[in-house]
Amino acid sequence: MLIVMKPDASQSDIERVVQVIERLGFKGHPMPGESRTAIGITGNRGSVDPTHFENLPGVAEAIRVTKPYKLISSDLKPGRSVVKVGTASIGGGSLAMIAGPCAVETAEQVFAAAEAVAASGAKFFRGGAFKPRTSPYAFQGKGEDGLKILAEVRDRFGLNIVTEAMDEHGIDLVEKYGDCIQIGARNMQNFSLLKYAGKASKPVLLKRGLSATLDEFLLAAEYIMAEGNYNVILCERGIRTFADHARNTMDLSIVPAVRRLSHLPIIIDPSHGTGHNYMVEPLALAGTAVGADGLIIEVHPCPEEALCDGAQALTTDQFSKLYSKVRQVHSVIAAQNDTEVLHQSLEQIA
Ligand code: PEP
Ligand code: MN
Repeated sequence: MLIVMKPDASQSDIERVVQVIERLGFKGHPMPGESRTAIGITGNRGSVDPTHFENLPGVAEAIRVTKPYKLISSDLKPGRSVVKVGTASIGGGSLAMIAGPCAVETAEQVFAAAEAVAASGAKFFRGGAFKPRTSPYAFQGKGEDGLKILAEVRDRFGLNIVTEAMDEHGIDLVEKYGDCIQIGARNMQNFSLLKYAGKASKPVLLKRGLSATLDEFLLAAEYIMAEGNYNVILCERGIRTFADHARNTMDLSIVPAVRRLSHLPIIIDPSHGTGHNYMVEPLALAGTAVGADGLIIEVHPCPEEALCDGAQALTTDQFSKLYSKVRQVHSVIAAQNDTEVLHQSLEQIA
């Protein structure tokens, strides 16, 4: 059930609807949109009787939801969500750039990468302190010491920190030191972790699982939102297919598919999506052209010495060249979108 409020509904009308939802034993999720607020209901097993709401002040209509997801849906919130991450935002027409090394290795390595990322004009820095590695003998990350280095990056360079958590303790630590909790591909269906992230105060970057369908991906985001954390950013990072020329297969068609169904921002990770330095730029440009809200790119001051994912890391020079090309593509796409919006408004006036 979805309660759509009238455009002139007051805050107390909205609160009244939430109270009625809670009295029925469910949870209400008000989602303010551009022209009206809608309130999602979760916690119900069967259908909810719309007559509880139809005559309440400020209610426009009560709609039965037939899709498996509620809170991620464009039905609940038409238009695009903008998610605040630290001092900047992701979504809403701009192109977010998140860049940095795969893993935090040393303070020198991280600061060298951060200096280049900040100089390029990007607002977000990435770097893993907890690394999900295939082998238990591979470098696992520097843990809390790594997060302290990332917190210093924010202080020195003014970059907002996106970093992965692999368990509940990791989420607590990322909340303390970082600006955005990354849930990696391998944990996309770790439901208890998703629920825990749903209770966190920081936004969540949710990466698509290695073999997740669109519905599985969206329902993973729904887990986080159902707990009350509505600040979710989706990330396509490539999926497993029979193709072996790249580390993964970048599924760029998921961007328009997500945008059709959901208000959540979606970004692209061409580094993990391809696994090869020479493929990162072309796929970053393609991801931008297909309408992504941002990119996450691995950059290392010395890729050949990287402890993790060196083959896909860009040098700082390669990164700044990529970013300037990506901006050009984005400005063309943004100008086209503006023209379309203008034509639509002129048609409405005519
Ligand atoms: C990462 O971004 O460092 C990472 C491990 O990515 P993924 O979860 O997409 O493999
Ligand atoms: Mn990596």
